[in-house]
Amino acid sequence: MDDLDHAAERSQVFTEAALQTVLLRLDGPPSSGVCRSCTDPIEPQRLRANPRARLCACCAEEEEIHRLRHRRCGPRP
Ligand SMILES: [Zn+2]
Repeated sequence: MDDLDHAAERSQVFTEAALQTVLLRLDGPPSSGVCRSCTDPIEPQRLRANPRARLCACCAEEEEIHRLRHRRCGPRP
């Protein structure tokens, strides 16, 4: 049974690795560190929380509002 257990363990590890690969493909490469909307640098603490963040905190918030109100995020004053 040991071999079977090890095989199951390996297949689980493989599944997790495959899942990570799929997630990486879906989310794309790590963030460039620049907001795609306003081109401001993305806050370092935000990048630590989400290394693939594409928007700064302001624009991410605006995007969330936009989703509800169909409003665009313009450049900050
Ligand atoms: Zn931004």
